[in-house]
Amino acid sequence: MESSVVAENDTNAPEDDVKERCWDQREALPDEPRCVICGRYGEYICDETDDDICSLECKGILLSRLAKSRQPTGRPCPVKLPATDECYYVRDNDNKSEVKPLTTDQTELMRRKLDILVKGDKTTPPPILSFASCKLPQKLLDNIEVAGYEMPTPVQMQAIPAALARQSLLVSAETGSGKTGSFLIPIVSQCAKVNEEHFPNQQMPLAMVLTPTRELCIQVEDQAKVLGKGLPFKTALVVGGDAMAGQLHRIQQGVSLIVGTPGRLIDLLTKHEIELDTISILVLDEVDCMLQRGFREQVMQIFTALSQPQVLMFSATIPKEVEKMASTMAKKVTVISVGKPNKPNQAVKQLAIWVDSKRKKQKLFDILMSKQHYKPPVIVFVGSRLGADLLSEAITVSTGLKALSIHGEKSMKDRREIVRSFLVGEIPVVVATGVLGRGIDLLTVRQVIVFDMPNSIKEYVHQVGRASRMGEEGTAIVFVNEENKKLFPELVEALKTSGAAIPRELANSSISCAIQDFERLASESIDAFAES
Ligand code: ADP
Ligand code: MG
Repeated sequence: MESSVVAENDTNAPEDDVKERCWDQREALPDEPRCVICGRYGEYICDETDDDICSLECKGILLSRLAKSRQPTGRPCPVKLPATDECYYVRDNDNKSEVKPLTTDQTELMRRKLDILVKGDKTTPPPILSFASCKLPQKLLDNIEVAGYEMPTPVQMQAIPAALARQSLLVSAETGSGKTGSFLIPIVSQCAKVNEEHFPNQQMPLAMVLTPTRELCIQVEDQAKVLGKGLPFKTALVVGGDAMAGQLHRIQQGVSLIVGTPGRLIDLLTKHEIELDTISILVLDEVDCMLQRGFREQVMQIFTALSQPQVLMFSATIPKEVEKMASTMAKKVTVISVGKPNKPNQAVKQLAIWVDSKRKKQKLFDILMSKQHYKPPVIVFVGSRLGADLLSEAITVSTGLKALSIHGEKSMKDRREIVRSFLVGEIPVVVATGVLGRGIDLLTVRQVIVFDMPNSIKEYVHQVGRASRMGEEGTAIVFVNEENKKLFPELVEALKTSGAAIPRELANSSISCAIQDFERLASESIDAFAES
């Protein structure tokens, strides 16, 4: 057993009893010791510090942090990003007189008008009305203009000043509402200022954005480059499918922002020595997905390797349990929600059609061949990789339309090429699995067909959201049948709030579900009563 970690109750415990990795360790029960690094069950005591530790991995992190904090000189670590508190003003009409801070009443009124809700930190700055009212570098303001952003969207109005004030945030706003800019604008601004002052020669990683898919990472990095053009602000993309050597080289050359998927990042970090202590901002885009089983362990592993960064978390769908989990990522988390949370984008007209599974293919072909209903370019969402391949071939054979599939098994090169040719209009139909479901900005797409209903309403909300960006109108056609029974109540709710018609079969079926639920509950309470 490695001598530096001692099992709490048994100093002679066999070697394989000591947990190697943080994720091998279980969560701590209420009265149990917690690991000082990750908060899991603190099964061991570190013999050098007497701290509770869950594994060799967290012990390593603890000791390396200690060693760094003892270093007398060397690189500034970690860099303290400045908080910008001068970003919330109203100007008098002539635009020349003194700027005045908004009063509390004005702030509340403005938030009410913009449908913004802020929970948590009372010191959260008021919304901004223009990008220029924040102390952003002039070059960044120019880039924002070049990107075509005339004024901030509601989520940007509130999230940008709060992020600039160095608050950790959990932000929900509907799909296509400009969440990417809400974190990238503060990141570019902060990084450019720090680089100018501290790292004029070689940039250090100051911010990291994690997203669930390679496509989304590519898009976020592209947008970061547009906003950071001409500023001391370099980016690196760390996703699977591209060669790791190139990604490593780029980081070693000096970058400020790393955008990546958790899996590849961990791969890179475990194989190579990369300094992450300087990272002061961590973004979890599509946070509900990132904190779900599967991704969560990886995200936490990366998080624990950082030095308590400001955490910015975004999604269109944030369930209560994610809100709870997110609140443990930083000392204080400000919760911002804009518009109706967890509901499909209001600009997308939904049309639910009741179709038996056997008839779904024919129904799809009918839609694609109907002048009235077919509105290319179209994304068809399906549930499996094989299904995507088979269906795209069947579309081409039966309708003559060029259709391609995109999913996680295709190479990165193919996936990039398919997205490109779809966006420039060379292919009118793409059949996709969840890889295109979240976050991707498919500007020209106005029609989504949900061929296989996903496993949760959350994913449905994201898929429907692909049909509209920035409030432009789009349509989403969704096929439903008895197999999706589990989602009926939530689906009916989602359709109702958007004013969409509910197919008769769906309405009847969800009433019968509700009656069954009621009967089950009633019989359970009668049983309980009889037993008591
Ligand atoms: P979300 O992450 O909320 O789903 P995105 O950040 O992908 O949405 O933004 C959707 C689209 O809106 C993108 O094409 C983006 O360039 C554009 N956009 C973002 N902010 C603005 C703005 N302030 N003005 C105009 N367009 C914007
Ligand atoms: Mg997004």
